[in-house]
Amino acid sequence: MRMVFRGVAASDGIAIGPLFVLQHAPVEVEERRGVAVDAELARLDDAVAKTKQDLQSLHETALERLGPDEAAIFTAHLQILEDPEFVGATKRQIETDQVNAEFALTTVSNQLVALFEQLEDDYLRQRAADIKDIRQRVLSHLLGTGSANLSNLTHPVVLAAVELTPSDTVVLDKRRVQAFITDVGGRTSHSAIMARSLGIPAVVGLGSATASIPPGTTVIVDGFGGEVIADPDAAEIARFTERMEEAAADAKVLATLKGEPSVTRDGHKVELAGNIGTPADLAAVLDNGGEGVGLFRSEFLYMNRDTAPTEEEQFTAYRDVAERLAGKPVVIRTLDVGGDKEIPYLDLPKEANPFLGYRAIRVCLDRTDLFRTQLRAILRASHYGNVKVMFPMISNVSEVRRAKQVLAEVKDDLRREGVPFDDRMEVGIMVEIPSVAVAADLVAPEVDFFSIGTNDLIQYTMACDRMNERISHLYQPYHPAILRLVKMVIDGAHRHGKWVGMCGEMAGDETAAPLLLGLGLDEFSMSAGSILKIRQRVRNLRFADAEALAAAAVHEESQEAVRARVARWLEQAGEHRS
Ligand code: PEP
Ligand code: MG
Repeated sequence: MRMVFRGVAASDGIAIGPLFVLQHAPVEVEERRGVAVDAELARLDDAVAKTKQDLQSLHETALERLGPDEAAIFTAHLQILEDPEFVGATKRQIETDQVNAEFALTTVSNQLVALFEQLEDDYLRQRAADIKDIRQRVLSHLLGTGSANLSNLTHPVVLAAVELTPSDTVVLDKRRVQAFITDVGGRTSHSAIMARSLGIPAVVGLGSATASIPPGTTVIVDGFGGEVIADPDAAEIARFTERMEEAAADAKVLATLKGEPSVTRDGHKVELAGNIGTPADLAAVLDNGGEGVGLFRSEFLYMNRDTAPTEEEQFTAYRDVAERLAGKPVVIRTLDVGGDKEIPYLDLPKEANPFLGYRAIRVCLDRTDLFRTQLRAILRASHYGNVKVMFPMISNVSEVRRAKQVLAEVKDDLRREGVPFDDRMEVGIMVEIPSVAVAADLVAPEVDFFSIGTNDLIQYTMACDRMNERISHLYQPYHPAILRLVKMVIDGAHRHGKWVGMCGEMAGDETAAPLLLGLGLDEFSMSAGSILKIRQRVRNLRFADAEALAAAAVHEESQEAVRARVARWLEQAGEHRS
């Protein structure tokens, strides 16, 4: 039955394909007594065999995309499946109680989880999470709810889920996932950001699409317009196929701008860089003509594993990126854990307001063991390229001073040990909390650069959770208040001779580009797939015109009025296609 869903356009592109629904199996399972024991044992064997296949291919994918240490978790899970305490005990329970496989598996794994959770030893306590994860995988095969494994899909699909976590998306097989749609989330939730960096069309915040569309139904995903059509008619398929072809033709034109400078028609030059989560993402940035990496979200190195990455592992990852950039800059952001980015082994307390809580630099200044290890790795990598370090979630000048103090101490250690590093490595901060934006001129003397994190800056300014689709209409990048804050940051920094970048998603937005350019932004860092579109826009503009546009836009009364002004301006004299 034809159905249309409206959501938030999260990543450009059109896809048409069968729906694959990713369902995490329910925690409560039904108990059935007096079952045919042999049949239940066979069902269990079959589900375990399928889970092993999943884990093997997850291991291969993680190895290829993330490296041996991150992949090790899947080998550990395979070992648990081979342990007689787990599958053997489940079989005994089926036999003695004549009970269904799901129920026996849940009972046995709950007992093991309870046992591990009581232990003192941190490492062993973590095993409880592994058991839960494996239970979910085996259960999803037993219940036929669709594999929780995104890395070994056998045919191209449109992936649907209530929510995708950053660790789900990192192992996603992009040759098979043509697009994804989720019930919750906004444009700046991390799964949406990941979709853009992988170049996969996505619509998020669809409400109830996952439960309403039967698996296997053909769907059209319009990542430009934020629409999903289930069971479309032939005319719709033809229309969207044509749009897919147009988008492919546009991409060809953009590709010709790959090696061109990012300079306006009247000679004003800016830098267009890419955002990455792991070294594997760098290829897309370079393929799209990125002039550097303006944000390396280092927390992705800490995900999908059991312990924090060692200094050596981090050093290898940072040096790899620095060397491949061959002199172009990379801004490595120190660990930004918290908000929607969970790292279970750090054992951070559950909080009522995680976006306003113990996160990012607040954790690092408290857990200086973690912070020092990371700073050592970054400093060591600075010897091999153009590396800059950046601290996230800064709210006041004393945090900057304390972070720099730790950095100075780590430098002293390295100097004493005779380890080479770039002593003049630039130090910057993210401006994503309004207190720092408003007082930018007071903080500027402490840093070499700012990078505006609009994803968080907008949510804190508008008091609007970036993940909450119900209030996504209040998440307003073009609100004059946001433009004024951006202006305060740029003016405050320029007064002290410091440069300003932007690494929030707004930097890759074509409508925002003339405004940001006109406000004097020096560097724009974005998902790889947006770089060439923004370069095209910059090259078609005159800086002087953009300055006049921005000066007028900050006096508009609303986001709608700003948008309308930019649209009129682009239509009239603003943009000249060459
Ligand atoms: C931001 O807040 O704009 C930003 C770039 O950081 P993140 O999206 O990782 O929170
Ligand atoms: Mg942020």
